[in-house]
Amino acid sequence: MSATTTAALRSCAPETEEIVDAYRDLAAPVTERAGDADFTARWRAMADLGVLRLAPPGATAPGPVTRALAMIEGIGLAGVDPGLCYALASQVFGMQFPLRAALPAAAWDAVADVQDGRTLLCHALTERGGGSDPFSMETRAVRDADGFVLDGAKTFITAAPVADRAIVFARTAPGRSPFALSAFLLPLDLPGVRRGETFAKTALPTVPMGELIFEGARLPADALLGEEGSGLAVMASTTAWERSVILGYALGPMHRLLTRTVEWAAGRDHFGRRMGASHQVAARVSDMALALHRSRVQLYAMAARLDAGTPARQLAAEAALTKISVSEDYVRMTEHATALSGVRAFLPGFDLAADLSSPMAALTYAGPNDLLRVAVARQLGLPVEN
Ligand SMILES: Cc1cc2nc3c(=O)[nH]c(=O)nc-3n(C[C@H](O)[C@H](O)[C@H](O)COP(=O)(O)OP(=O)(O)OC[C@H]3O[C@@H](n4cnc5c(N)ncnc54)[C@H](O)[C@@H]3O)c2cc1C
Repeated sequence: MSATTTAALRSCAPETEEIVDAYRDLAAPVTERAGDADFTARWRAMADLGVLRLAPPGATAPGPVTRALAMIEGIGLAGVDPGLCYALASQVFGMQFPLRAALPAAAWDAVADVQDGRTLLCHALTERGGGSDPFSMETRAVRDADGFVLDGAKTFITAAPVADRAIVFARTAPGRSPFALSAFLLPLDLPGVRRGETFAKTALPTVPMGELIFEGARLPADALLGEEGSGLAVMASTTAWERSVILGYALGPMHRLLTRTVEWAAGRDHFGRRMGASHQVAARVSDMALALHRSRVQLYAMAARLDAGTPARQLAAEAALTKISVSEDYVRMTEHATALSGVRAFLPGFDLAADLSSPMAALTYAGPNDLLRVAVARQLGLPVEN
């Protein structure tokens, strides 16, 4: 890691440098999905080093969100597989922080073992019919005695094949009323819950993805998150958290891409001079540095606002802008690196091989960027609907 990067990390979270060192040994490259058992073992190794452990609310210098972001950045900088970094960031920012903020203390304590890495969470919203429009969901929870009965299926869910508990969104009333949906937190070993198809991915291929099927699953009343009908509000919170900081997972891979590209352009002889002596090459490298800088500043600014106690839902517009900006910068950086690598970008055995799919996937998960743009414009006052 360069001195500049180390200094920058120190200013955000003093312990990050040690975290990077601690993780370096665990950073063996993983280029394809090596199986669920391998994923779980690597997940636990990260948890044993504290990546999933949240600092107490209100902790200062750095605050809990900044600290978690620095750890995720640290493992990425150390070279930990980006897929694992993504999955860890998804659980920490999209599930652990919102659950800790929303649940009564005793209810959070009952699931806080997720921080030890011995149990895993997943966030089950998308269905086969689509993900962008929550009101298209067909999974339904019907009141029964003092609980609910859940029927339906959630598809394309990160970590579903290995998760122990799920946040599940279901319809508790018909139509498109803002109160038609509810959210539940449930263990996945309940009768009537089973895992369906699993999906191999071209993006983030090491992270398991699958389907959850609910067939008359009886949920106790305390599985409900918030009130009946508050599913959209829960979703607004989990997605605002996620959009604010999940792409922190990409900072390490982006930095490594920049370093690798600089080394290549500085060292290669081309047209009778160093390749990096070309102004066009230098401009591409500068644009990569700019994209990384912009992304880093925005992500840590969002972390600081969350640490200052701003409710995630109040940050919806900024969270969407951050998610759009960082994901598109990640894609742009990868395009520059790919262009400068020439044919080597397309040869998996080469150091300069490019992964275009994983950055592109960030345009889709946590809310497709096209739809986030619509939401931002609506918040600005345009009469635009999805
Ligand atoms: C790596 C990865 C991990 C994921 N993990 C999870 C997970 O853990 N849990 C989960 O629930 N889901 C997960 N998903 C699914 C993800 O949330 C959905 O893919 C996403 O919500 C979009 O839904 P869709 O794929 O059905 O796309 P669609 O809803 O079909 O949209 C596709 C595209 O159509 C266009 N479009 C559609 N409608 C409009 C409109 N009204 N205005 C403008 N443009 C429009 C946009 O360009 C949009 O990107 C994951 C996806 C990926 C790629």
